[in-house]
Amino acid sequence: MPRKANRNGPRNAPFLAAAREIAEVSRNFYSRGWALGTGGNFSAVIRRDPLRLAITGSGLHKGDVEPSQIVEIDAQEKVLRGTRRASNEAAIHVAIVRERGAGAVLHTHSVWATVLSGMQASGGGAHGVVANPREFAEYEGAFR
Ligand SMILES: [Zn+2]
Repeated sequence: MPRKANRNGPRNAPFLAAAREIAEVSRNFYSRGWALGTGGNFSAVIRRDPLRLAITGSGLHKGDVEPSQIVEIDAQEKVLRGTRRASNEAAIHVAIVRERGAGAVLHTHSVWATVLSGMQASGGGAHGVVANPREFAEYEGAFR
């Protein structure tokens, strides 16, 4: 049995910092109309080896995500910390982090991401894009 970590100890600091940032990004993206209702999911790498991600819990309304609703998962999408199930799309986050070396995955389901993925995907059909928030804002502006 793994030893239970001290919930307020220094080992939790990276998770808690990531959880705060993900909650903030969720609310921010919602306020910009980039994430609608419960659509989309966001994660950040806490550790690479072994892989640990902080990720939005399943079914959260992105306009009022709190840090306590973020969970920590391993590479098999098993919840190691937090009380919710991980996002239904956790496997996509794990794959992107591994394939692209991404530090965070902001999967929005926005109209803009859907349009862009249709334009950019060579095989077509995806519903997300990999971009940093500044690039994303530029794309968004380009469509207005
Ligand atoms: Zn999706």
